[in-house]
Amino acid sequence: MKYYEVAPTQIVRSGADSFTYASEHPLEIGQLVRVSVGKKLMNGLVLKAVQHTPNYVVKPVEQVLEDRPLPKEYVQLAEWLSGYYMTPLAVVLQTLLPSGLHKNRRVKATFSSVDNYKRTHIVLNSDQQNALGDINNAGSGTVILHGITGSGKTAVYIELVKQALADGKSAVVLVPEISLTSQVVAEFSSHFKDVVLTHSRQTEAERHAVWRTVLMTDTPQVIIGPRSALFLPVRSLGLIVIDEAHEPSYKQEQSPRYHALRAAHFLTEQSKAKLVLGSATPSIVDYYLAKSTGRPIVAMEHLAIKNAYKPSVRLIDMTKRTHFKRHRFLSDAVLAQIEQDTGSGKQVLVFHNRRGSAPTTLCENCGWQAGCPNCFVPLTLHADAHELRCHICNFTSHVPTSCPQCGHASIIHKGIGTKLIESELKRLYPKLTIARFDGDTASDQTVEQRYKELHDGSIDVIIGTQVIAKGLDLPKLHTVAVVQADAGLSLPDYGSAERTFQLLAQVIGRVGRRPHDTNVIVQSYQPTHPVITLGLKQDYAGFYALAVEQRRRSHFPPFTYLLKLQCAYKTEAAAIRNAKALAEQLKRSLPSDVQILGPTPAFYERAGGQYRWQLVLKSPKRAYLQQAVSQLPPAKWQFELDPISLL
Ligand code: ADP
Ligand code: ZN
Ligand code: ZN
Repeated sequence: MKYYEVAPTQIVRSGADSFTYASEHPLEIGQLVRVSVGKKLMNGLVLKAVQHTPNYVVKPVEQVLEDRPLPKEYVQLAEWLSGYYMTPLAVVLQTLLPSGLHKNRRVKATFSSVDNYKRTHIVLNSDQQNALGDINNAGSGTVILHGITGSGKTAVYIELVKQALADGKSAVVLVPEISLTSQVVAEFSSHFKDVVLTHSRQTEAERHAVWRTVLMTDTPQVIIGPRSALFLPVRSLGLIVIDEAHEPSYKQEQSPRYHALRAAHFLTEQSKAKLVLGSATPSIVDYYLAKSTGRPIVAMEHLAIKNAYKPSVRLIDMTKRTHFKRHRFLSDAVLAQIEQDTGSGKQVLVFHNRRGSAPTTLCENCGWQAGCPNCFVPLTLHADAHELRCHICNFTSHVPTSCPQCGHASIIHKGIGTKLIESELKRLYPKLTIARFDGDTASDQTVEQRYKELHDGSIDVIIGTQVIAKGLDLPKLHTVAVVQADAGLSLPDYGSAERTFQLLAQVIGRVGRRPHDTNVIVQSYQPTHPVITLGLKQDYAGFYALAVEQRRRSHFPPFTYLLKLQCAYKTEAAAIRNAKALAEQLKRSLPSDVQILGPTPAFYERAGGQYRWQLVLKSPKRAYLQQAVSQLPPAKWQFELDPISLL
């Protein structure tokens, strides 16, 4: 008899991730088995062999589900994720492995259609060749590929993947969930015969089939998909590319709240593989870390298509009402441009990234905006209490009746939403085909579903949020209009400036990709705000310098580690009382250099009939935060290590 530690894929009891089982036949680490726990049967992963015969009764392994074990890197990844994010191993395995492993499936794995496949060949330009050379010289480990929008990063990825395959290694290419329609996927499937494509709409059975095919094959694979594609168990990993690596969708919002970049970093380290983080606007944290650890940052600063020229950019000051003679928030310039473009068969994209509902407080006369002096984030209006409050540190102030900057009485609290823009444009232009794309879009009306209409220009005016800001390359698109570039700056979050800059740079990058003239019109209440002016110029270096200084002064990442704790109670009093009690307890038990902010109401203060309050901890060491997590009272508290947003 042999004995093994097996981790079930369901939580059995807290604090116990694995149990000992017996097997007559030797098992391998990484094998998937069926075991009984109490009266239930569960799937489990063999973690290790137990050297000494246990002195208690041990149940036998009921069934071996797959003869072939998971490659050891993925077993290590599961254990690492569990420890790093303080999440039960069973919960990690539910993310890492397809569900229903024990079911017999009839579904076959579907690979990307080979219709596109025509073995196209791109001749790399000198920028691309240099980038490729630099990435190759860097050997294994992480490289940032910092290439402006339209610089041709995809062709570099394709070349890297070809090299990996030629070396007998597999390559994984991660793309943000919402840009699966992007050219990236199309281009990859025209270069490689069998691309394994995953997406979130796959059924359990399809997912299982794809996973199993990857597990069983020995030939090198090319895998493209959202962050979960990272978990397809390839045999010998040579390369991971993360496209648009700054995108928030690489962070999982549910437990395990892991970041795909961190997980990819761990995997490539274990496999001695390369990790390439591609972006026109790398995240401040990644860029800072690369600089401070001496990892290469490879730049591509020119447009790939010869003779393409940059769009002409106009900035409209929203505080000057003379620019808005025809409409309250759509300037005369924007309306005139829509009329001119659609009159000559061209497209206009109207961008507005208004999500969340916290009204912001600003002066319509001078553009002043109420902000927290400690956290540099906007204050949120609490109309019932007649006060403005910081949702991070709880700083409060009265709602001003006149502007503290210019003295004018035009203080307003409001936000414009994409639905409003749509109804206004439909009212103004009943004959035009106008389509809105955002988080509320019905599933049969998505960018993917309507891609053809977008591409051939039969949609005249495209309205949308971040959903349309990236990845799209539309030949008929002539103008990008940004309704209120500073709208995102009003979110009470430390990452608001960065997100605003990224989106502005991305959306402007939708035009100026071809050898003809294009326009960008940006409206803003804060036309001189550095984030806006730098975004308009797509000046990453300038923005980076500014953002790093601000993060340094306000003690946010990369200068500190963050932990967000959130509780939910039926009454507000209970939420506050418990949050205060926890804050006190943490203050006593943690080192004094851990800063405890709050309690404050959560951004989404009242969700699901409950009151949510939160604490934010800042610490010079991540381990202190893990220590805090281990003290949380069970059930009522949720936690997130390394949150990319405090909302
Ligand atoms: P990025 O992802 O860096 O924004 P893309 O990879 O989408 O840029 O490339 C922008 C455009 O340039 C695409 O239409 C692509 O086909 C084209 N392109 C890329 N490399 C070359 C090249 N070497 N020669 C000509 N066109 C290229
Ligand atoms: Zn003012
Ligand atoms: Zn504050």
